[in-house]
Amino acid sequence: MDREQLRALQDERLRKVLREVFETPVPLFKRKLEAAGITSPDDVKGVDDINVIPLTVKQDLRDAEAALPPFGDYRFTAAEKCVRLGSSTGTTGTPTLSLWTHHDIWIEYESAARNWWRNGWRPGQVVTHAHPAYLYGGGVMLSGSMEYFGMLNIWVAPPDTDELAEQGIRMWQRVRPDVSMVAFSLGRFAEVAAKMEVELPLPQFSLAGGGGRGLPLMTAGLECYAYVGGPCQEAPGAHVHEDWAVVQAVDPETGRDVPDGQWGDLVVTTLDRDNGLLRYDLEEACMMVREPCPCGETTIRGFWGGRFKDLVASQGTRFFLHELEGALRSVGSVVTPSLEYQLVKPTDEAAPLQLRVELGGEGGDKADVASALRGAVKETLGVDASVDVLDRDTLPRAGYKATRMVDS
Ligand SMILES: [Zn+2]
Repeated sequence: MDREQLRALQDERLRKVLREVFETPVPLFKRKLEAAGITSPDDVKGVDDINVIPLTVKQDLRDAEAALPPFGDYRFTAAEKCVRLGSSTGTTGTPTLSLWTHHDIWIEYESAARNWWRNGWRPGQVVTHAHPAYLYGGGVMLSGSMEYFGMLNIWVAPPDTDELAEQGIRMWQRVRPDVSMVAFSLGRFAEVAAKMEVELPLPQFSLAGGGGRGLPLMTAGLECYAYVGGPCQEAPGAHVHEDWAVVQAVDPETGRDVPDGQWGDLVVTTLDRDNGLLRYDLEEACMMVREPCPCGETTIRGFWGGRFKDLVASQGTRFFLHELEGALRSVGSVVTPSLEYQLVKPTDEAAPLQLRVELGGEGGDKADVASALRGAVKETLGVDASVDVLDRDTLPRAGYKATRMVDS
């Protein structure tokens, strides 16, 4: 769709969201709009006016659910119209609840299908993943999207124990996947495959990158837009599904877009949903570029920098955990079969970072490894670190996303 046509569609869909806020009504968003002097849906003509709409953060949703349990007053649709409930992982406080109608699930599946196609995956292939299930809605969303797309979906359990990891590996030996999406659990599977003395029966998959500008922007959270975009295969960044969202990099102080190519808060307004969110600030770093893409897609491209809650301040610098992890990965003796580490949350900004890192499976001299790790951290992040090198199997394991930052 050409840019003008796409903008007209966004304008029309945004005006519909505004009408619903006032007419349904949706009390939380109506209060926010009125507080900003917007008393009628006609006050917002389209995307050009979007920055007059106040931001909403996760704590607003949490507060609304606490004040009016269980679902708060920010829903566009009654729970009776919904068919699926999910709960956030609660890593940053009380979990919030997500509700989806059939239509909202369909938007996610269609969006995911664009991503899978763009990745070069095709119906008929075998895909596997190990996303958590039950109250956390991520696994069922991913599985559903794969099946909707037409891939044969092998959903193995998150490898919380060696036995569960082995169950997954044995299945892959029988039915070999063409596509692996076990990214957050790959280290655990690699570790258990090494114990079993077998090759991990998974294909290598590396995501198209961010060209040195963070990662491609792929998700705006399960509670907002799970498959907001997917990596372009020809140029850095992720194509953003602009027909179903207005995605912005925003300066949270002013509420306005930062210039293209600069980091701001990831702010998403979903379009055409039964249950939408208006100017939802995910408190994560993102960057947008608008220049035309050589691949021929007309949408803007987004980059993701990290969650601000994962931003570590030390010795006058700030960095994201994934940047620290990148530094540790440059030391070969700690990455095979998996990198296992913990950072003690700094309480004194001037003190060296406190790191615990396990030796790799091949062992090594702890003093030499510690020195190599200190050097890598200094070179990459410019900070001093004190590194405890530990024996293998000392730190706790997790089947999905391991906790890397711990209190002392
Ligand atoms: Zn492209």
